Amino acid sequence: TEPRNPATHGSAASQALFDRARVVTPGGVNSPVRAFHAVGGTPRFVTSARGPYLLDADGNEYVDLIGSWGPMILGHAHPEVIAAVTRAVSAGTSYGTPTRPEVELAEEIVARTPIEQVRFVSSGTEATMSAIRLARGVTGRAKLVKFAGCYHGHVDALLASAGSGVATFGHPDSPGVTGAQAGDTLVVPYNDRAAVSDVFARYGEEIAAIITEAAPGNMGAVPPEDGFNEFLAATAHEHGALFISDEVMTGFRVSRSGWYGIDGVAADLVTFGKVMGGGFPAAAFGGKAAHMERLSPAGPVYQAGTLAGNPVATTAGLTTLRLADAQVYAHLDRTAATIAGLVGEALTKEGVPHLPQFAGNLFSIFFVDPTEVPRVRNFDDARSQAQHRFRAFFHAMLDGGVHLPPSAFEAWFVSAAHDEEALERIASALPAAARAAA
Ligand code: PLP
Repeated sequence: TEPRNPATHGSAASQALFDRARVVTPGGVNSPVRAFHAVGGTPRFVTSARGPYLLDADGNEYVDLIGSWGPMILGHAHPEVIAAVTRAVSAGTSYGTPTRPEVELAEEIVARTPIEQVRFVSSGTEATMSAIRLARGVTGRAKLVKFAGCYHGHVDALLASAGSGVATFGHPDSPGVTGAQAGDTLVVPYNDRAAVSDVFARYGEEIAAIITEAAPGNMGAVPPEDGFNEFLAATAHEHGALFISDEVMTGFRVSRSGWYGIDGVAADLVTFGKVMGGGFPAAAFGGKAAHMERLSPAGPVYQAGTLAGNPVATTAGLTTLRLADAQVYAHLDRTAATIAGLVGEALTKEGVPHLPQFAGNLFSIFFVDPTEVPRVRNFDDARSQAQHRFRAFFHAMLDGGVHLPPSAFEAWFVSAAHDEEALERIASALPAAARAAA
């Protein structure tokens, strides 16, 4: 059957829900990027999803390249995940006491990654917030180094942006973040070894940790240059600081061991989220036992959570991790390459300058001119995109039944459920979208 899509069916029902939502919810959404603020228009209110498809309130069907911003590597409503979750729910949903799935998920994560112990939380934000508290507790130091364009959730200290100059103390990136909270954060350009060396030369004794996305996906896919993470770990250690690798987005998505499975750099502390919750709120941070044992109740660094390690979420995560075998990761890699290839072909045909870039199977199509920007290495490069082209491309794809992330600064997410039919639907939406972007 022909997929229903907005070119023929419109978006009146989504619009009506958005109108109601804006009365009772700021901007009509519960996380800003959902509001289409970067692309304009009406966000689609989804009523259900299956495999690689989203169904919206108007009955339109879209090939989904958001994947809930990362978690859905098996596709939506995977029958085995749903069955496991249904069994877990029937047994009760939260007890405030320890449970078996927490132990099993912790064992699974520890077995796949460089960490020896893990603590569960409910969001990636909590994971990075807790990891930096622990790093400060372990080192007795205050300052953090982060990279411009890396996102680690809405942690006060990490909502800091670079001022002018190469390596600068952070400025609050949002009202409500104090100068003191942002001022202990040093913001440096990504992939810039000299800038990192420079901040350590000046403030090395005061730095508790470097935090980085293992392979950034939050300025679009911008992989670390060869040896960059190794260099960060070595530089941190030389100065008695910790190296924190944020694998909230890459963890269990780019390989069964996350980005660590690709570059093998063992961080002191690692954060996880998204895939490990299988579509439920679950996240984690972990590290060497000597560091993790500093957390309460074993040690003095306080950290806690009412729903942390929730049995439904941990069951969903555990089931997802166990189902994601080598074939799944091979499929994700292949599918990402195929989609990037199809998009590239269509844009080339219309003479639209673009640059595909990969961080494992996370990928982005940057609307830059590769003769001017042969590689997007950092946030400034990403910001040089022709965003009007992305906006036009995005909307034409949406009209053609393909839901891309609604921002030029996001990675695109594929799943094991993206099959030939999904690829065909993408291919058929592309010619019009490429023309729109021209
Ligand atoms: N770290 C990274 C790398 C992320 O991509 C995100 C979310 O997109 C977070 C942390 C924050 O996670 P959450 O949205 O679950 O708080």
